[in-house]
Formats: sequence, C-alpha cells, structure tokens
Amino acid sequence: MIQIEHLYKNFGPTQVLKDINLRIEQGDVVAILGPSGTGKSTLLRCLNYLVTPTSGIITVGDVRVDAQKYRKQDVLALRKHLAMVFQNYNLFRNMTALENVAEALITVHRRPKSEAMETALKLLQKVGMEERKDFYPSKLSGGQQQRVAIARALAVNPDVILFDEPTSALDPELVGEVLRVMQELAREGSTMLVVTHEIGFARSVASRVLFMDGGEIAADGRPDEILDHPKQERIRQFLNIME
Ligand code: ATP
Ligand code: MG
Repeated sequence: MIQIEHLYKNFGPTQVLKDINLRIEQGDVVAILGPSGTGKSTLLRCLNYLVTPTSGIITVGDVRVDAQKYRKQDVLALRKHLAMVFQNYNLFRNMTALENVAEALITVHRRPKSEAMETALKLLQKVGMEERKDFYPSKLSGGQQQRVAIARALAVNPDVILFDEPTSALDPELVGEVLRVMQELAREGSTMLVVTHEIGFARSVASRVLFMDGGEIAADGRPDEILDHPKQERIRQFLNIME
C-alpha cells in the first residue's frame, strides 16, 4: 500500500529525516510517537509532497515517486491516494461545514453540486455533525471543527488518511469525540497514519506503533511490544513523561 525507501529530508544543513524505510499495508493503523522536533510531521508531509523530500522513493498504490526525478503529475497522482488532517483543522472560514466537506468533490472531482452535497451530508452524519451542517467554523467547537475536517478528508475517498496530532489543539473534554471518530474509521478498516501523543489511543486502536527519534525510526512493532515492553531506555523515558 505505502512503501518508503531511503527517504531523506534536509532543511539547509539540518538533516531531519535520515534514511527512513517503511512499508505500510492496507488496513494498518500506525501510531507515530516521539519527542518534539524528531521529524514526525516532516515524515507525513513528505508522503504527500507538502514537503519535498531531499531524496528517496515513495510508493502509494500504483504511484511511485522518486524525489530526484519526479514530474508534477506524479505528485498530483500521489495526492489522490492520500488525505491529511491537521492539528488546527484548516477549514475554509467562509464556508459552512457542509460546503467544506463538499468543496473538493466539486472543484477537484468535478461532481455535480447536488451529488457532492449529498455525499457531504452522509459524511457529516458519519462524524455526528449533520445537525451543524450549515454552521460556519467560527460557530463550532474545536472538536466539532476537527470532525468536519475528518469528514472533508474522507470526501475524496482516500486510500490512506494522514493525521498530524489531530487532538493536540483541543481542550481535554473535546479529545474523546474526535478519537471516537478515528476509532470507528480504524474499525471499518481505513488505513491510517496518526502522529499522536495519545498513548491510550496508540495502545487500544493502533495495529502498529513507530517511535521516531532524531529523524530515524527507533522502534517499530505491535503496541504492546513498544509501549508495554520497550527495549530502549529512550522510549521508557518518553513514556514516563507522557503517561
Ligand atoms: P512536534 O512533536 O513538535 O510536532 P515533529 O516531530 O513533528 O515535532 P517536525 O515538525 O517534523 O518535528 O520538525 C523536525 C525538525 O525539522 C525540527 O528541528 C524543525 O525545526 C525542522 N523543520 C521543520 N520544518 C521546517 C522548515 N520548513 N524549515 C526549516 N526547518 C524545519
Ligand atoms: Mg509535528
């Protein structure tokens, strides 16, 4: 489903990703943990070329993109397979919840407006937001905005959903409603990569946990292996701080 080969990313003199090699299968729910500044967001952003890798090959489905010789259309093809949910929701402020979800269906996928709105309404129902479909983002709580953002990500029917700390900006009482939606997606078999500090989510929902440290994948395994029996002292320290 996703294959990452020898992925490197430098920002100027700083090497942020160092030879990442990773294979992710359909239906995997991968939690990515690790200290701040270790390259977790950069890894997700390289996958959809929001950040251009310095070198390396990314394959998603039948699209293979080599950072050292790629064409713009390869990147567009890659992005068709992926959707991303950000920490700060990034909804369009001047559109209602429903319009936010329908937007890509209309402008990118050229669906008739009525059909796009129908699909968008179903997705809002899925994330429990149909009653607020005509609200603008400013009138929604953070948790509600994030659920709309998830519905928007689902609209284009991606093969993989990338989440970058989807609950970090939320007040604690709003985290649960977003995690429940994500848990439901996982249960339905969605392939998900989730950068998160929610150890509980990683333990109970993820099929696999990656621990990143210093731009490398320091550990990769089942949640119980990584979280309950960590081999490295570095991971033990990290978990002690988080839990
Ligand atoms: P956090 O947990 O705080 O979100 P992270 O693991 O997601 O951290 P990244 O955002 O991937 O970390 O950043 C990794 C390193 O790359 C950091 O040292 C950061 O300063 C640097 N970096 C990220 N984006 C850029 C950029 N656009 N230009 C220069 N340096 C950057
Ligand atoms: Mg980050």
